[in-house]
Amino acid sequence: MAKKENLRFSSRLIHDGSSPDPVTGAHATPIYQTSTFVFPSAEAGGSRFAGEEDGYIYTRLGNPTTRALEEKMAALEKGDAALAFSSGMAAISAVLINLVKSGDHILCSKTLYGCTYGLLQLLNQKFNVEYSLVDMSDREQIEKAVQPNTRVIYVESPTNPTMELADLEMVAEIAGKQDARVVVDNTFMTPYLQRPLELGADIVVHSATKYIGGHGDVVAGIAVGPQDIIDEIRVTTQKDVGGILGPFEAFLLIRGLKTLAVRMDRHCENAQEVAQYLAGHPRVKNVYYPGLPDFPQHDLARKQMDQFGAVLSFEIEGGLEAGKNVMNHVKMARLAVSLGDVDTLIQHPASMTHSIVPREEREKMGITDGLIRLSVGIEDIRDIIEDLEQALSYAG
Ligand SMILES: *Cc1c(COP(=O)(O)O)cnc(C)c1O
Repeated sequence: MAKKENLRFSSRLIHDGSSPDPVTGAHATPIYQTSTFVFPSAEAGGSRFAGEEDGYIYTRLGNPTTRALEEKMAALEKGDAALAFSSGMAAISAVLINLVKSGDHILCSKTLYGCTYGLLQLLNQKFNVEYSLVDMSDREQIEKAVQPNTRVIYVESPTNPTMELADLEMVAEIAGKQDARVVVDNTFMTPYLQRPLELGADIVVHSATKYIGGHGDVVAGIAVGPQDIIDEIRVTTQKDVGGILGPFEAFLLIRGLKTLAVRMDRHCENAQEVAQYLAGHPRVKNVYYPGLPDFPQHDLARKQMDQFGAVLSFEIEGGLEAGKNVMNHVKMARLAVSLGDVDTLIQHPASMTHSIVPREEREKMGITDGLIRLSVGIEDIRDIIEDLEQALSYAG
């Protein structure tokens, strides 16, 4: 049998970062549901605080269940170390606040997760951090938008919800000339489908709420990166801002990760079929899915992603009214934001996830009023397509 460190990805999802509990032999990672840890002596307590001795102190500073999750995620993303947070936004804000100071500039994908956009506005208005949005698929535009004070290039690939891609190797090369860190939000892909650190990125962030948890029952975030940056975040924007993940949620994510490969295979297979079905539907104008051969960046998708993910959006004839009719008539799919759940979820970005983005900015991002986003679940593909078929008959 392969040595543990040589195991293939789906075996590592199950075995990395987990070993039987040293005290009881428990096979599953125990939930250490405790806020504090008893010191064996006053001296030991002192040396733990001084960092001279390993050992737990207080759950905001570290917890064995959460630590097991962090080790697993670091190994899967091929990073030195990871930190778990109470939400994706807690992870993203802890990373960005750590990397920039007043007067610095963040260069971002022109389409961003709505709350990440909100965070940039807040950093700008309250702390004088500059940002600009750029088309991350275009080398010339990125090079032009980089400023002497650019400290971070922040990338979503694919972007939410129009699925534009950034060439991650190209972005890393541009950032390298500038001493800027590349941060990639890898939520849509997971390390099973895309490993940005191998392509030159510095830090990967996740909303683990999505595919990593996988069952729509936990809100969580992860950041993975080099030891020095992660150590610094651990003792600053994690410890002192305090958005840590609880041990029970960490347990749920460890459990979710074990089935990530089988879930993602089914998610992607179903999404490909749904995308092809929608592309051939007379009421559908556009389908945005990197797995379609005529998707403008299909070749880049093949180069840097192992499969094409399971989020897609489509625009129907008749704009917002028609879109509302479709969303109000799905029977199996759920009308809900979020994604990466085993259930198929459908939502309307312009009035829901991206309503915080002003209309003009939204349209620049390609988020028109008639755009519908689908997170394709792992149900029987025939049921998903039958549900869409009957709902689309209400499009008008
Ligand atoms: C959901 C999501 C986030 C935010 O994560 P939360 O866990 O909801 O805080 C960030 N980025 C992307 C791409 C997301 O889909």
